[in-house]
Amino acid sequence: MSSILVVAETRRGELREITKEVVGAALGLKEESRLPVAVALIASAPDRFLGAIPAGVDEVLRVESPAEHFEAHVHERALEQLIAKESPRLVLAGHTIDSFGFAPAVAARAGTGFASDVASIRWDDGPLVTRGAYGDKLVAELDFPEQSCVVLTLRPGAFAAAAAAGSVPVREVDLELAGAAATEHLRFEDAVDTGVDIGNASLLLSVGRGMDAEDELPRFEALAERLGGVLSVSRPLVDAGWVGSDRQVGQSGKTVRPRVYLALGISGAVQHLAGIREAETVVAVNLDPEAPIFGVADFGAVADLFDVADALEGTLG
Ligand code: FAD
Repeated sequence: MSSILVVAETRRGELREITKEVVGAALGLKEESRLPVAVALIASAPDRFLGAIPAGVDEVLRVESPAEHFEAHVHERALEQLIAKESPRLVLAGHTIDSFGFAPAVAARAGTGFASDVASIRWDDGPLVTRGAYGDKLVAELDFPEQSCVVLTLRPGAFAAAAAAGSVPVREVDLELAGAAATEHLRFEDAVDTGVDIGNASLLLSVGRGMDAEDELPRFEALAERLGGVLSVSRPLVDAGWVGSDRQVGQSGKTVRPRVYLALGISGAVQHLAGIREAETVVAVNLDPEAPIFGVADFGAVADLFDVADALEGTLG
């Protein structure tokens, strides 16, 4: 039966929030597409997640997984078989580390349409979607002519989560999954809590690639503390291994809401700006008067960040 098929994500005994968002996106298409919404629940002991499936879903396809925890190859094999058996018009999953492991492979092998990191979907005889292009500098609109099935992974946070859980009819689907698992789950490791919380700091002194000396970092951390704030950074400093990712601001880092965001030597790439939209006052220091950060700054100085640091230290005494 043609449907919108949502691939549920579970971890550590819980249905993940992203699944509620993906179901929200699917329910939003239900009226225009006139397709029922089914959720594929591929897990060991899937019944424990049934109570969390959002209301409005027409059917849960219950698939017993041979792997105790998420295993990409099991999902890959299961989804391939579900597409062959159920002929869904649209398959939706979260754009997450889990789906990276199976969704593109399934789409390639089954010859379906495919788009990742989708930010919006509307329906006009089929899905029409938007996603970022060129590192999110452009928005691309995609359609999938002549594709009878399209697989999409949806950007977390881009779709409103489906509201309350409801009681949804369940159908057992028997798939050939024996021997599909190719990896062994050893353990979960929690990220080390460093005590750094840039998300709740009221002042962030943020340094970027303009601060090109790793050994200067302690100086900026001390300055941030003397100003009553916390040191944060743009991504290149994390990629260089100079600081932990818990200090990274931006699209693939953290969204921050400080009263003051002091950006030193940060150009203002869209991915960085995505993390500071809710900052109350942005102060930018950059040698380049054309740097995009000045487009969002409340106050700006075309200056050398080391001179500004000297001046601040001088004022603090
Ligand atoms: P640059 O762009 O190199 O800018 C350095 C700036 O310093 C320049 O404007 C220069 O004029 C100025 N400068 C140089 N010397 C001085 C000086 N002495 N005094 C003052 N100014 C000086 N980036 C993030 O930050 N966070 C993210 O979460 C993030 N996620 C991403 C996700 C994806 C999918 C992709 C593709 C990219 C992501 N990026 C992210 C990277 C982003 O595109 C930029 O490359 C990055 O933000 C640039 O960091 P920057 O401004 O520090 O460096």
